[in-house]
Amino acid sequence: MLDVLVCGGGPAGSALAWRLARLGMRVAIADAGRHPRRKPCGESLNPGAAAALRRLAQDGQAGGDPSWDELQGELQPLEGWALHCGSARLEARYPGGAAGWSCRRERLDGWLLERAVAAGAVLLPECRVKEVRQGGSGCEIKAIREGRPVKLAARYVVGADGIRSAVARSAGLAAPPGPLRKVALTGRIAGLADLEPLVELHLEPGALIGLAPLAGGEANATLVLPAAAAASSAAALRHGRPALLAALRASPTLAARALQAEASGEALACGPFDAPVRSACSGRVLLVGDAAGYYDPLTGQGLFRALRGAELAASALADARHAGDARPLQAYGSQLRREFGPGAALQRWIEYGASRPRLFRAALAGIRWSGTAERLASRIGDCPPGAEFRRTRLR
Ligand SMILES: Cc1cc2nc3c(=O)[nH]c(=O)nc-3n(C[C@H](O)[C@H](O)[C@H](O)COP(=O)(O)OP(=O)(O)OC[C@H]3O[C@@H](n4cnc5c(N)ncnc54)[C@H](O)[C@@H]3O)c2cc1C
Repeated sequence: MLDVLVCGGGPAGSALAWRLARLGMRVAIADAGRHPRRKPCGESLNPGAAAALRRLAQDGQAGGDPSWDELQGELQPLEGWALHCGSARLEARYPGGAAGWSCRRERLDGWLLERAVAAGAVLLPECRVKEVRQGGSGCEIKAIREGRPVKLAARYVVGADGIRSAVARSAGLAAPPGPLRKVALTGRIAGLADLEPLVELHLEPGALIGLAPLAGGEANATLVLPAAAAASSAAALRHGRPALLAALRASPTLAARALQAEASGEALACGPFDAPVRSACSGRVLLVGDAAGYYDPLTGQGLFRALRGAELAASALADARHAGDARPLQAYGSQLRREFGPGAALQRWIEYGASRPRLFRAALAGIRWSGTAERLASRIGDCPPGAEFRRTRLR
């Protein structure tokens, strides 16, 4: 029997499996797809996520890891945020020299999965988990592997299977989703002028555009539309690349910079985003990453939660193995709430303001007046504690 079956080989699942394999556990990753694969994402790691990734790469690596050096060469530093709304622009840098990174998701996810396998985790590609049943000493998992039904057995099961987690549903942990609020289109753009090492957020009437510079001169562009607009733009969303370019060229704050812009590769549509859970743990089943509850991509904190959640889950599972029963896992749920709860509440406030441009502009002015932009950047950047606050620039 496996010690742990991790369902999902995204950042949360791979980071966790890597840690568990290093602890000497028998661990397998079942992923419904095959890597490398694209994932709709703004592709920015905030400073908290960058710190968690560095810890993961360096823990237990006495002699250094050439593949980590190679990956680092492809990461683009991000020093903070630039928020645009009409003529207002607020620039908030992360405090104390903290920085995040941007990284193409197929590269980041592929690297994490490869490291987990190199550490000893077994990969089951094209294995979609359907159902998890808990017994006294372990779990039985039903899955479809390469088109055929299979049964797996593990002492513990982790749902790292993303926003529509089958494990959360099967374990009775999923809560009813909220209404469809918005949809997004993400793609890569070449030839966008004047990119800086900042995540940009452009609030337009009826749309929001996020940008993050990627290594090699491209940028990730994410267009977010409210659900009502999305229904009337359904045809445009199906033809993603032209829709993304058209949004950049129609944007009052981006049009001049987008004159030479071209979309490269496919643009991916996604939504809805609201996937609440009742709890992140039940008996022998844990949830991590988006599967443990997701609300909105606006503040770019998903990868931090995936990587930090994997650290907490690894330590809870190590405690459970040591104790010989599942009771230590209960502490994991409350730890997640303690660490991510305040950020999630702030995220709801920001998301509320971002759907109301007048309120958003007033908030930008309020932040300038109170001199709290850097503090805000630090909060949504999940900056490691102890960073100093510098003054904020507003133009
Ligand atoms: C539009 C958008 C923009 C975003 N921008 C950012 C950003 O800039 N910065 C940031 O930090 N976060 C961002 N996020 C959030 C971020 O993408 C997620 O938080 C992150 O991918 C979570 O990682 P994960 O491993 O939990 O899930 P995922 O990355 O979704 O991985 C889940 C894995 O599970 C597999 N799977 C699914 N179902 C099953 C099943 N039944 N059985 C087995 N395997 C299964 C999938 O194949 C996949 O590989 C954004 C999200 C969206 C939607």
